[in-house]
Amino acid sequence: MTPLHIETPLLESRPLSARAGRGVWLKMEALQPPGSFKLRGIGLACQEQAKRGAGRFISSSGGNAGIAVAYAGRQLGIPVTVVVPETASEHAKGLIRQEEAEVIVHGPSWQEANAHAQALIGERDAFLHPFDDPLLWRGHASMIDEVAAAGWRPDAVVLSVGGGGLMCGVVEGLRRNGWDDVPVVAVETAGADSLAQSVAAGRRVELPGIASVATSLGARRVCEAAFDWTARHPVTSAVVSDGQAVRACLDFLDDHRLLVEPACGASLALAYGRHEALQTFERVLVIVCGGATVTAEGLRALSARLGA
Ligand SMILES: *Cc1c(COP(=O)(O)O)cnc(C)c1O
Repeated sequence: MTPLHIETPLLESRPLSARAGRGVWLKMEALQPPGSFKLRGIGLACQEQAKRGAGRFISSSGGNAGIAVAYAGRQLGIPVTVVVPETASEHAKGLIRQEEAEVIVHGPSWQEANAHAQALIGERDAFLHPFDDPLLWRGHASMIDEVAAAGWRPDAVVLSVGGGGLMCGVVEGLRRNGWDDVPVVAVETAGADSLAQSVAAGRRVELPGIASVATSLGARRVCEAAFDWTARHPVTSAVVSDGQAVRACLDFLDDHRLLVEPACGASLALAYGRHEALQTFERVLVIVCGGATVTAEGLRALSARLGA
């Protein structure tokens, strides 16, 4: 089965290495056709569901997961319905419709949109979860297979955490390549720091709400598997401000000519800011997770508002 995702470049970044004071390599997931790493896991899950006879894919994400499901459905010739809350941006809805998926706007927040999506699921429909599904993690893990196949071993992997699906996939990828001792630095923005708060409390914490502009990191609670990894794999949790994440996006746009969301800027901010979590590493791999829901103008407006 040919995967729906593409193999992405692994680049050494001179500008980020200079700023971080150590070698920084980038896994360019922003170059996946729908704009984020999510296609790796969602593509695999959609192919599996298609094999099992799914007649329609349903998603409740107004962000990159919904865009990836819409892309996968069009590639596989299977119709897609994405239920999004009233807060979903016109830009994001446009990207989903551009993939020929049906967009249903329902409810004030994701909770209501998701409940409606669940109620729509018919006998031949498959629901695609944005982060909590072992199939998804298996698909995400392929990005680490590509790094291993390139014959390059990082001292640490820096990645962003929303619901924790990317983290579960990367840890799975490290372990299936015999890199059980390669640590993960898990980055969130303040106000979307559900993993950091869970690690500090020693149990899975649910945030009362999301108070960050990094909307793709806006899961109020990380999945159980991601929290469990923090006890079984070397994981350091780091938190940056919205301003640092947005500033990193603008710097990255200049340095690498690629537009990414603040959700991705959070990881880049660690390198740009010479964060202490990187102190002991010589060769750092940053997962450039991407994100398609932001515009250059939107980033600059955020930057002005945050004084970044
Ligand atoms: C989904 C997403 C994340 C977070 O991934 P999780 O699997 O929810 O932890 C980070 N960055 C971008 C751009 C995303 O789309």
